[in-house]
Amino acid sequence: MTVRIGVIGTGAIGRDHARRIQTVLAGGEIVALSDVNRASAEAVRADIAPKAEVFATGEELIASASVDAVLVTSWGTTHEQYVLAAIAAGKPCFCEKPLATTAEGARRIVDAEVKAGRRLVQVGFMRRYDAGYVALKEAVKTHTGAPIMVHAAHRNPTVPEAYITPMAIHDTLIHEIDVFRWLLDDDYVSARVIFPRKAARSHGRLRDPQIVVLETAKGVVIDVEIFVNCHYGYDIQCEVVGEDGIARLPEPMAIQMRLGAKLQNAILTDWKDRFVASYDVELQDFLKAAAQGTASGPTSWDGYMAAVTSDACVAAQDKAGEAVAIPHPARPALYA
Ligand code: NAP
Repeated sequence: MTVRIGVIGTGAIGRDHARRIQTVLAGGEIVALSDVNRASAEAVRADIAPKAEVFATGEELIASASVDAVLVTSWGTTHEQYVLAAIAAGKPCFCEKPLATTAEGARRIVDAEVKAGRRLVQVGFMRRYDAGYVALKEAVKTHTGAPIMVHAAHRNPTVPEAYITPMAIHDTLIHEIDVFRWLLDDDYVSARVIFPRKAARSHGRLRDPQIVVLETAKGVVIDVEIFVNCHYGYDIQCEVVGEDGIARLPEPMAIQMRLGAKLQNAILTDWKDRFVASYDVELQDFLKAAAQGTASGPTSWDGYMAAVTSDACVAAQDKAGEAVAIPHPARPALYA
């Protein structure tokens, strides 16, 4: 079966996901496009999906009988309305992170999906599909013994002026928040944020870098350095310290060179290159489940818990290193 897909939001990632469905993956076809900027949807139709219909609104696209499943890749603030509409229409929906920009919004999605009685939503936490993280999870399960600590870093070379302090949590740390819950099979109980001196390349409304310390229900302490003006590259680091040993996320493949009396490995500079293969695997998983009228992978519950944790981390940014409690409400049976 070919799943007929509609894409809402045809900016950077919407266009890229449309390309992979049309040219890389099996079992899907882009039949519909929508964007507040109609010219953007028209351009994706011209370049990638010539048979697709362009809809004036996301709601019309979702309601169309020619659409079996939906990709929500618009701005974060608009995700909730489209995901709720897709659930109401009974259509599988892949939603880029964040599921919603508030925990209350994500909870409304959870409640709607629970009411619908089946999984319809996959959240775009693609790191769970990254071969390195999958291997790390296996190493933690079989070799390191029970985890005690995680040391991690999320470094970007630079960010635009519009990127402000809370975005280090909502836009950047959100990936670590999700992937460590999955990696450790654990939930968070508290968050602290520590600010070293501000880096010279940061700007007025951004305190960069910052260190977030998360504690889990099983007593694991995770420290994550977020440094989004690190200048040298896009660098994701993760080391799990267990009872019997240590496991480290592999570096992306790079040719090692001996040049000019130096031993060198190039470091990536663009986030798009770092997880490119995992986007393919996550969307193939979406297409496979959507063909059965359902969804798999990261759930609305995962999106909700990520939002709850993000809110606590943002609150902790103003607490001068004090711990902020992270609630964990009862998980509905649908997500067991
Ligand atoms: P982008 O390039 O700005 O694209 C977003 C598109 O959505 C733009 O074309 C925008 O219109 C359009 N849009 C805004 N409001 C809309 C609405 N109400 N209905 C329909 N379209 C609307 O942003 P992006 O980088 O693709 O990011 C999109 C989402 O993906 C964000 O939530 C982001 O966090 C997420 N993302 C995830 C990853 C990941 O690693 N998983 C990576 C990148 C992005 P205009 O043309 O007017 O701007």
